[in-house]
Amino acid sequence: MKIVIFGPPGSGKGTYASRLMKRLGIPHISTGDLVREEIRNQTALGKTVEKYSSSGTLVPDEVITEMLKKRIGPELSRGFILEGYPRTVSQAKELNKITKIDAVVNLNVPDSVIVDRLSARLQCKACGAIYNERTLKPKVAGKCDKCGGELFRRVDDQPEVIRERLRVYREASEPVVDFYRARSLLKDIRNEDPNVDPEQVVDQIMKLI
Ligand code: ADP
Repeated sequence: MKIVIFGPPGSGKGTYASRLMKRLGIPHISTGDLVREEIRNQTALGKTVEKYSSSGTLVPDEVITEMLKKRIGPELSRGFILEGYPRTVSQAKELNKITKIDAVVNLNVPDSVIVDRLSARLQCKACGAIYNERTLKPKVAGKCDKCGGELFRRVDDQPEVIRERLRVYREASEPVVDFYRARSLLKDIRNEDPNVDPEQVVDQIMKLI
């Protein structure tokens, strides 16, 4: 099965995609994680994409598409959960050329919940697991429940960068919703309660796909 998880920053894409990966037994591919990995390793590509990522703007389509193609190639036969791509209509068209998608899960979350959630988000340096200082606390403060890794706050989770990411989402990414709706692939999930158990949302997604 080939699934795209789509939604604004902070809508829970990564949280649900990693849980879906366990239930479906197919890999989770996150272009945001690919970008952060290049930056962490300070590769030439990492240096190019860092300025976009830290300011909340989009990496150019050609650059991110090349990164995706490298990662997705080996998974095309067994399927995947793709998160963070496509983010523009041009990327959606590129993805169409690479492979046929079975379903696009569209997460609908109000801006107030997004800002609240992102400003309290923590992530594990070692395994990438996501926590929240208010709603999804780790058992031991600052440490990952799963692997004991150190938790950190993303540089793009500051209020002014969050606002820019939301603006970019409305302008560049929202048209992707119409692209997939027109192709009858869109599955809408409404998530207005910031305290809902992520597993319940994953149950809803499982019923839709
Ligand atoms: P968010 O939490 O805002 O959804 P991600 O973790 O998915 O963020 O991505 C982090 C950053 O990586 C983005 O702000 C952007 O700079 C870059 N990025 C990730 N995926 C894409 C993409 N498909 N197109 C362009 N830029 C991307």
